[in-house]
Amino acid sequence: MNIILLGPPSVGKGTYAKMMSKIYNIPHISTGDMFREAIKNKTEIGLKAKEYVDKGELVPDDVTIRIAEERLKQDDCKNGFMLDGFPRTIAQAEALDKIVVIDRVLNFTASEEIIIDRISGRRVCKSCGAIYHIRNIIPKVKGVCDKCGGEVYQRDDDKPEAVKERFIVYKKQTEPLIEYYTKKGILRSINAEWPIEQVDNVIADARKALEE
Ligand code: AMP
Repeated sequence: MNIILLGPPSVGKGTYAKMMSKIYNIPHISTGDMFREAIKNKTEIGLKAKEYVDKGELVPDDVTIRIAEERLKQDDCKNGFMLDGFPRTIAQAEALDKIVVIDRVLNFTASEEIIIDRISGRRVCKSCGAIYHIRNIIPKVKGVCDKCGGEVYQRDDDKPEAVKERFIVYKKQTEPLIEYYTKKGILRSINAEWPIEQVDNVIADARKALEE
């Protein structure tokens, strides 16, 4: 199944995508993770993307569409994939429609208040991308990832100024995708307001929407 996860920044898409990609045995493809990896390795794409990512702005469509297309051509996507953070503009969605057929779009929703709390407390592992939160997903040793021993840090774009910008960008450029996929009849909205301890409720609703 070819699936897109939509939703505002930090609604939990990364967490849900990691869990569901294991359940359905399909790759989790996050353009945000791909950009962060490229920036870390100082590749040509990384150098182009850095200034946008650091400010919470969108990387230009031509660069983003190129890396997404290259990834989707790989063998492990033949039986489906779960896209997290792509597409984020109508132009990206149109480019995607030219290369694959999307079966389902899950639109995760939560109030802005809950999202701001999740963003400001979010910490991630620099090496494996595991997600933590200062209050309710705390690594056993402060600053050290339980899974791989990597450094747990706050992304620059999770800091208040960049968060504000990411919300503006989301509302203006990404929210129109809700209408785009609703018109195609493939979008389902999932309530993601549950606290993290009850993440299984979100996953159960998402599975229902995928298997209906
Ligand atoms: P994320 O981890 O999905 O929140 O993405 C982090 C950052 O990577 C975003 O704020 C953008 O700067 C960039 N990015 C990720 N995906 C895209 C996309 N589809 N289009 C443009 N920029 C993106």
